[in-house]
Amino acid sequence: MQQRYQILQPEWIVTVNSSFEVLQDYAVVIEDNRILSLTSIDEIIDLPFYQQAELVRLPDCALLPGLVNSHTHASMSLFRGMSDDLPLMEWLTEHIWPAEARWVDAQFAADGFKLAAAEMIRSGTTCLSDMFYFPDEIARCAQQIGIRSVVGLIVLDFPSPWAKTADEYLHKALAVHDEIREFSLVSSALAPHAPYTVSDEALRQIAMYSNELDVPVHMHLHETAAEVAEAQQNNGQRPLERLDQLNLLNSNLIAVHMTELDEFEIERIAEAGVNVAHCPESNLKLGSGICPVASLLEKGVNICLGTDGAASNNDLDLLGEMRTAAMLAKGSSGNASACNARQAIEMATINGARALGMVDRIGSIEVGKCADLIAINLASLNTQPLYEPVAQIVYAAASRQVSHVWIDGVAQLRDFELCNLDSDEIIARASFWARKIRS
Ligand SMILES: [Zn+2]
Repeated sequence: MQQRYQILQPEWIVTVNSSFEVLQDYAVVIEDNRILSLTSIDEIIDLPFYQQAELVRLPDCALLPGLVNSHTHASMSLFRGMSDDLPLMEWLTEHIWPAEARWVDAQFAADGFKLAAAEMIRSGTTCLSDMFYFPDEIARCAQQIGIRSVVGLIVLDFPSPWAKTADEYLHKALAVHDEIREFSLVSSALAPHAPYTVSDEALRQIAMYSNELDVPVHMHLHETAAEVAEAQQNNGQRPLERLDQLNLLNSNLIAVHMTELDEFEIERIAEAGVNVAHCPESNLKLGSGICPVASLLEKGVNICLGTDGAASNNDLDLLGEMRTAAMLAKGSSGNASACNARQAIEMATINGARALGMVDRIGSIEVGKCADLIAINLASLNTQPLYEPVAQIVYAAASRQVSHVWIDGVAQLRDFELCNLDSDEIIARASFWARKIRS
């Protein structure tokens, strides 16, 4: 039985508030699922509920807001390592789409989601923005596990095990949106797959519903140079220009990848408040291109981080993704100060929260926000000696150093052990699927 009050006493608190304060000798006090206060450790003994509170000492640990994975296909973790070393379109059309058509059902979505959720919680992710078939099943799993999720209500022009036509996808999307309205940890986004798989007509309706329901639109966009060139050849327009005409360029849009952008487009998305979900490892692995992070940051674009699915990454480790994002921004811009450690952490926390429309609830350690928190133990060989925790977390820490995770005040990882998920059972289900798919 969980105590009503929890007092977390780490070595450092990386608040990710607007001045990016890093506090020492402070504790985070949680009441039920919310952050009640940040209190000096000299004063915690005076708290009226001190005797009833659970005190969690976290020596050598930095406490951070939970990481936000702004773009993933969680259930595709069951396809991890199934087809590698291929470019995007060959990987997608000759391997992934046929495998999805053959194997995906509600059970696949659930088993894959649980595998991904366990990996994500284990590595410090407390919130994910997903895009996959059977979002109803995924929403139920997420709520049951207790991982905060925005399920993408996928829309395509072609049939899949989830729906046959764009109309049916849209119809089901609205039904799932209604069904999960009361879920405390799960909300929805409209998720048109990509410009090359969704027609103008469906996109017009998505723009309308997004506006009416005030939900994000989560979409792969400008993933490769070939996607943009092909669109220009087919309809004389770059995809971003087309989306602009369809009224989709606004602060509800989470544009995933964006490796191919000219100066005019960077100005336009900055002005429109479009969010960019940067997935550096997936882009590198598929040879898709490099998102111009340094230029986007310069223009003030909200950049968040995603792992993409484990079939193109091949892990769901946001700490690793942070480091890759920082390195790639420096290497590709020739500027060692591009995407500094603070910016990398913001991309994986508060910027993700902003993109998902949840900045009032998660993304930083501030009074009144939900208690989505992670502790990273920095006593390991690879993070010693320690001059400054923030850079150490981005440039040296590994996800195995995540020791504790709370989501909405509930402990999900304690002393490196998952609290509410059974790893053995999850691995057994993953092996079952691999045997079935391989046979
Ligand atoms: Zn993706």
